[in-house]
Amino acid sequence: MNLAPKLSEEEYRKNFAELIPPYNNITAVAEAAHCLYCYDSPCKHGCPAHIDISTFIKKITTGNLLGSAKTILNSNWIALTCAKACPVEVLCEGACVLNEKGEKPIEIGRLQRFAIENYFESGMPKLFKQKPKNGKSVGIIGSGPAGLACGAELALLGYEIQIYEMNELPGGLSTWGIAPYKTSMEDSLKEVEMIKGLGVNIQTGITVGETISIEELLDKHDALFIGIGLGESGKLNIPGEHLNGVIGALEFIEKIKKGNRGFVDVGDRVAVIGAGNTSIDAATIAKRLEAEEVMIIYRRSEAEMPANDFEYRLAKNDGIIFRFLTSPIEILGDKNVEGIKCIKNKLGEADEQGRRKPVPISNSEFIIPVDMVIYALGQQPKLSFLNSISDLRIESNKILVDSDTYQTNNPKVFAGGDCINGGKEVVNAAYDGKQAAQGIDKFLSG
Ligand code: SF4
Repeated sequence: MNLAPKLSEEEYRKNFAELIPPYNNITAVAEAAHCLYCYDSPCKHGCPAHIDISTFIKKITTGNLLGSAKTILNSNWIALTCAKACPVEVLCEGACVLNEKGEKPIEIGRLQRFAIENYFESGMPKLFKQKPKNGKSVGIIGSGPAGLACGAELALLGYEIQIYEMNELPGGLSTWGIAPYKTSMEDSLKEVEMIKGLGVNIQTGITVGETISIEELLDKHDALFIGIGLGESGKLNIPGEHLNGVIGALEFIEKIKKGNRGFVDVGDRVAVIGAGNTSIDAATIAKRLEAEEVMIIYRRSEAEMPANDFEYRLAKNDGIIFRFLTSPIEILGDKNVEGIKCIKNKLGEADEQGRRKPVPISNSEFIIPVDMVIYALGQQPKLSFLNSISDLRIESNKILVDSDTYQTNNPKVFAGGDCINGGKEVVNAAYDGKQAAQGIDKFLSG
């Protein structure tokens, strides 16, 4: 296996420098001053957490930075991660009215980051009134964005909160699963500290179903919230998947974020299978780790690829090669990856979602020499865990919940985030957690 050269700490810092640098006081106020403070705030409707964007921007112009952070956190507890990792061009900034005027939209994500980082640097003073303890306790499984948001909201309402987290560090995908040049692990852990500051307890290294049973949790708590997200990256199911140098995209990103930094092994020629945003994260990380050649192999055409425009441009700027209408059929090698055998496709009939299906072209097989294969085909649901909760209703591998209250068919159990939606943005999970907290409060306060 040919490896890319190892990076020194300094080279790593340079290659993984933040894509979008922060504002300072002057540039933030100048950007905020361009906002029109629209009466109908289309940007707010474009934000899945419905943050009152015009109000928080206005507060930046008057120097009321804590007030600005309060407006943001009032709708979204995971606001720093979202400010840095949300696909803002298709959410709030995509909805900004300035686009229609042919002008650059307000940089809402960057302004949100400015307000929240100022709040963290100010020592996280108390912004919200907390109700006195009501004697009731809620257990939360998973400390990702949904679990944290649910815990924060319920702690404000006076509940005793215990979060159970299987990893050694809390934060879920915000901590482990986003490219390091977008958000750092430290960003996510600051959000965790803020939420712990509300009295939320987090126990790490606890695997529910092994360390403690669901039945024990149901006995111990007045209600349970499941925010376990999804599991490992889906497998390719082709020969050669066992070879050294084959790895799932999330496992690859996690390895980098866990501190292997510039010293992680990356192949010299890397094939990334799949063309979603996680594939682009994995491919651009490999390129920043100085892989000589990184290609994305996708079975459909450019028009059907799930990655958004911003990510696609980023990958192309990084020199990632795209091989569309191509499917891998075998990973070649003895012990280590040496190549990947592919077949060319053409587009056939549309599938249930209206996307045209790839149809293999006979006798079009070819081999690409590569040293590493990263598969990014979406995450698998944690079905064995979900099935271990007796009688929990699951449909299409997702937990079924009431769309208003997030209550499952077991009245004591609520759920939110990727395990109910099949995998969306961090901001959707943060919104679910907050809404579910209201559902739990309604249930427990009768
Ligand atoms: Fe400001 Fe744009 Fe939102 Fe209008 S749509 S309030 S200009 S950010």
